[in-house]
Amino acid sequence: MKYQDEYRDADLVRRLAAELEHITTRDWTLMEICGGQTHSILKYGIDDFLPPEIRLVHGPGCPVCVTPLELIDQALTIARMPGVILTTFGDMMRVPGSETDFLTLKANGVDIRMVYSPLDAVRLAERTPDKEIVFFGVGFETTSPANAMAVKVAAQLGLRNFSLLASQVLVPPAIRFLMSQPDCEIQGFLAAGHVCTVMGYEEYEPLAEEFSIPIVVTGFEPVDILSGVLQVVRQLESGSVSVVNQYNRIVRREGNVQARQLLKDLFTITDRNWRGIGEIPSSGFRLREEYAAWDAEKKFNVGSIKTKESADCMAGQVMMGKAEPTDCPLFGTVCNPERPVGAPMVSSEGACAAYFTYRRRESMAGETDQI
Ligand code: SF4
Repeated sequence: MKYQDEYRDADLVRRLAAELEHITTRDWTLMEICGGQTHSILKYGIDDFLPPEIRLVHGPGCPVCVTPLELIDQALTIARMPGVILTTFGDMMRVPGSETDFLTLKANGVDIRMVYSPLDAVRLAERTPDKEIVFFGVGFETTSPANAMAVKVAAQLGLRNFSLLASQVLVPPAIRFLMSQPDCEIQGFLAAGHVCTVMGYEEYEPLAEEFSIPIVVTGFEPVDILSGVLQVVRQLESGSVSVVNQYNRIVRREGNVQARQLLKDLFTITDRNWRGIGEIPSSGFRLREEYAAWDAEKKFNVGSIKTKESADCMAGQVMMGKAEPTDCPLFGTVCNPERPVGAPMVSSEGACAAYFTYRRRESMAGETDQI
């Protein structure tokens, strides 16, 4: 298939790996920001192609994983209110709140529906004027324009029975936060290609300069990722620092101008709480005041719901690249995709789910030997 096969070409992968080995002279720690990239790395065993000096750590780029527990509890509370139909994407359905999850509530008769787009929720609001339709949408810059469009269309249609409960977070402030940690070991980043498809990469240039870190905008196929790693290491080995666009078949420096304008029109920047990590200043979007009528948090007055995270889940450490999922004592035993303790075990982009799917046998081999 065009645009896929050439990026899974085994010969090219071997050539990139050989070049990487040839130019690497010392230890380097790189972070891939996006959970989609983490899954590709584990699925294709890309880390097995890297020289031993290069360590890849996994970043916080999993939308479901970084959604604060209190927001999930707020959504679950709204779902139980009379006259409400709560809609959300499928990957949110099994994410545990502090007491239950959406799938369990649905099985108990609460009207919760999976949708493929926030615009499906707007259409539902049009068809069912006697119900309050809430779309619970979480994500990074990639999915924010669709949420913005849903509110814009609902406002244009005068649909007051549609509202958005959203946690939309931004990558550049997260990079700043990670680099500002006193024990940060990250020396270069693979930035997420799909985020930069929307936002471009102008915002990454001052970060690269301020922290002297190479940043390479990278795609998701094996050739993309190895080529991204190669371009970061080339810079590190030569002492140069810049933002490079490996994903240039899709990403432009300025991004998608119309989508960025839509985001500007509907949202303002706000501080956001990242699950397991804490509050990161100016790291998310919230609806502008003129769209308050479509803001579910205000409409249903759930902003006061606060929830404490489970002390047993190491998701924050995993998402900051300070621990691997297999370092967590609950991994694969108490916490597994059937009974997840934390969101990284649920989401298709979560690092814990990726390790469980692709690495469980080897990571638990030691334990089996001991039994
Ligand atoms: S294995 Fe489960 S409990 Fe441990 S960090 Fe991952 S999600 Fe949290």
